[in-house]
Amino acid sequence: MLAASKENIPFTYVELDGRITLSSIASTEGQSVNLRSALHYNLADALQIADGEDSLNIAFPVMDGPDSNQIGNAIFTVPRFLVFTPQSSTLPLSILGVLIMLSLLLMLMLITMARGVKRQVLTPVKQLKYHAESILKGKYDEPIQYKRTDEIGELYAMLDLMRLEIMYLSEQHIRQAKAQKELITNISHDLKTPITTLKAYIEAVSEGICEDEETLQEYMQIMHIHADKTARLVEDLLVHALQELGQISVEPREQYSRKVFENMLRPIEHIVRSHGLTYEEPESIPDVLIRIDPVRIEQVISNLVSNALKHTASGDYIRIRTELHSGQFKLTIADSGQGIRAQDMPFVFERYFRGSLPSSSTSAQEGTGLGLSICKSIIKAHGGQIQFSSKTDQGTLFQINLPLC
Ligand code: ADP
Repeated sequence: MLAASKENIPFTYVELDGRITLSSIASTEGQSVNLRSALHYNLADALQIADGEDSLNIAFPVMDGPDSNQIGNAIFTVPRFLVFTPQSSTLPLSILGVLIMLSLLLMLMLITMARGVKRQVLTPVKQLKYHAESILKGKYDEPIQYKRTDEIGELYAMLDLMRLEIMYLSEQHIRQAKAQKELITNISHDLKTPITTLKAYIEAVSEGICEDEETLQEYMQIMHIHADKTARLVEDLLVHALQELGQISVEPREQYSRKVFENMLRPIEHIVRSHGLTYEEPESIPDVLIRIDPVRIEQVISNLVSNALKHTASGDYIRIRTELHSGQFKLTIADSGQGIRAQDMPFVFERYFRGSLPSSSTSAQEGTGLGLSICKSIIKAHGGQIQFSSKTDQGTLFQINLPLC
């Protein structure tokens, strides 16, 4: 109570019957208070009663005697500001400031992130979509480039590879479609020439123009050459059609090489000589067991000989050799003709490829460009290889290797 009076806190001592026996406000001494409404031992009750006022009354029981019995109550009238320290108004403001700063920072971060995502992901993906659409529309010549080497960069590189591959396939498709059109035109033309010649000669013979046996034989030979030409063209066309369908039939069976090759090579001498060329036949044909389809191998030889005939002139030679080499049956067909031009060499086995004629040549280019591609697929089906060597104006040599049994 001394401390309270020092702090200028008014106090009152109230007896158990409500009488005020001591008070810092002397005028109230001797008066009575209603104990029910005046005594509040806890802060919450005191606060409720002093609602809105500047001070509140808090009571403390006063104990005395050996049993510590309550003998009275001390009521202190305490200014509210002593009980509740006034809250600093600057604290919430600073927190608010920090919060605002934090939100601004967060917004800034989000905006920067959104920009980053847009620049690094959305824009390149949009660009990629544009390129994919261009490819779909058939525009293959625009390169697809990306400067970084991240995952998106890899995606760009892959799409560019796809573009190049599609461009190559598309160009190949266009080339083949064009070549096929040309093939039909050429074949119709190439078939027309020998058939017209054949017709003319047949008419001549039937009209009795051939006076003697010798002229008749001569006419017959010419007719034979043209009939051969027609048959070869039709055969090429048929094999080509089968090749297109993937159905070119090769049925190899085991047989001894000498007899089968002798039979295949026999008619060649006559054809070569009838063109005014020298023919050199194989000195000896090795006799080994070999697995071949004679019809198809004959077709290969006939194609190679007819190519040699097309690219030689009277006085040249065609030489055929056979031998065993490195466990394989080797057959070579060489001619002393004009040779294959260096720029044509990589393409001669390609379907529809026809080499350029030498500048000195005045004749039109004959052929369909199918012969060597057919030869290659037939030899491949036998498990063999076909290759060539050639020199301009010196001649060409084709070599076939067939495995032995
Ligand atoms: P085609 O003879 O119908 O043109 P091929 O596929 O048989 O088609 O031959 C392709 C090309 O290879 C020919 O156009 C020709 O230029 C060249 N070629 C083939 N054989 C010879 C050869 N013996 N001499 C010179 N060139 C040849």
